[in-house]
Amino acid sequence: MELVNSYAILLLSYLIGSVTFIAGLKMLSHPETARRGNLMAAAGMTIAIAATIFLWETPNTHQRLHNYAWIFGGLLVGGVVGTLAAKKVKMTSMPEMVSLFNGMGGACAMLISLVEYHKPETTGAGKLLIIVLGLVIGTVSFAGSMIAWGKLAGKIKDRTIPAGQVVNFALLIGIIALAIIVVGQYADMPALIYCILAMAAIYGILFVMPIGGADMPVVISLLNSFTGVAAAFGGFLYDNPVMLTGGILVGSAGTILTILMCKAMNRSLKNVLLGSFGGQKAAGPSGAAKEQGNFKEISLNDSATLMAYAQKVMIIPGYGLAVAQAQHACHELEKVLEDKGVEVLYGIHPVAGRMPGHMNVLLAEADVPYEKLLEMEDANDQMGSTNVVLILGANDVVNPAAKDDPSSPIYGMPILEVEKAEHVIVNKRSMKPGYAGIENELFFRPKTSMLFGDAKKVLQDLVAELKQM
Ligand code: NDP
Repeated sequence: MELVNSYAILLLSYLIGSVTFIAGLKMLSHPETARRGNLMAAAGMTIAIAATIFLWETPNTHQRLHNYAWIFGGLLVGGVVGTLAAKKVKMTSMPEMVSLFNGMGGACAMLISLVEYHKPETTGAGKLLIIVLGLVIGTVSFAGSMIAWGKLAGKIKDRTIPAGQVVNFALLIGIIALAIIVVGQYADMPALIYCILAMAAIYGILFVMPIGGADMPVVISLLNSFTGVAAAFGGFLYDNPVMLTGGILVGSAGTILTILMCKAMNRSLKNVLLGSFGGQKAAGPSGAAKEQGNFKEISLNDSATLMAYAQKVMIIPGYGLAVAQAQHACHELEKVLEDKGVEVLYGIHPVAGRMPGHMNVLLAEADVPYEKLLEMEDANDQMGSTNVVLILGANDVVNPAAKDDPSSPIYGMPILEVEKAEHVIVNKRSMKPGYAGIENELFFRPKTSMLFGDAKKVLQDLVAELKQM
């Protein structure tokens, strides 16, 4: 009776866990509910973990987990490291952390597969297939995420590998061949599983190595979906429904985000999978060396006047706004302008900043009303009726080369079409390029005026000027 009850409680806990994951994910899709969604899913995960530790039993021997010192020791170390890292990390370094944590998930899937493979009771093609799939996908995700982390942290440079695609293809064929031997039990050689692991690790490294610049977010999101799929295989292996649900959710959410980002950057998923789209960049950064002519500067006073007498101002935030921590000053400017009867909107590019949703999170922190944040298509629709566009620390997301220059590494990426507006004011500190490392012709176009300076300082000064008018 006791057994039945505890099993029922275990299943109920897993059900609660799964439901909170799904509901939490849904809530993450709106900034207003995102925080609660995150907490809800975390609570569900805590319940599922506690239930597994205290109620789960091995299928054959009906033993509960007993190695509590290891379990709680691991939970403590992981919990402390995770909490400290999350508290310390700067918003602009979030993608690095996401990459690192994602890599840890991949490593877990890899280790689970290795441990399970070596268990004497592991037999049967079905189980071996799941083990090998978890191992390959988890290892690719781990190795790839470590490279992505190194690149984002500036520790690893983009590098094209000679015949990289051919090597990757050969590795894939090799992995498939060895997997067939292991799963079909045509040879009983544990060394084969380590060969698969090594080949998957090299594949992961070569796959991410040439990718850089504007394409990085797609890769991180793709690796994230890999980890989800690898975790789902773990769920199969342990017959654990909550692990399966969690893995499937991460896998599918990551895949959907990858596809959306590919669309936003006009990259094909096929190219991502072959690890090739950095090739375009390596072929020669266009524009960088081009002689661009003159740019004109605008004073604080003139900028303030232009905006004060505008009917509609569109603010385009970018990575520089986050670096300067200028979100509060930005909201201040918006309020001062609105007090003067100016309509103020924000145009948000899907890959502005350094992580998906970066600008939304940043501006939400400063209490900018959500309805003022326009997605790229809506912002572009409004651009024609906008008097002044104020670009704050954005660069690549407004680079016209994405539309006009087929040799540009960002060619094909949809951009915020700021030149449809009457005036364009660009705030940045210098003429240096943005993340993709390329020149931006917008800064030299007739409608554009440069307002140099740190975004926070410039915004504070603009607010002061406007208040005096
Ligand atoms: P960019 O990186 O293209 O440009 C940012 C600009 O901000 C720089 O040119 C810099 O110029 C300026 N800047 C830096 N510090 C300050 C400051 N304190 N005050 C004012 N300006 C400053 O940013 P975007 O947002 O336009 O584009 C994002 C790029 O990042 C894209 O290429 C995207 O693909 C990539 N990316 C996006 C991710 C995502 O998920 N969103 C993840 C990883 C990469 P200066 O030095 O002259 O001041």
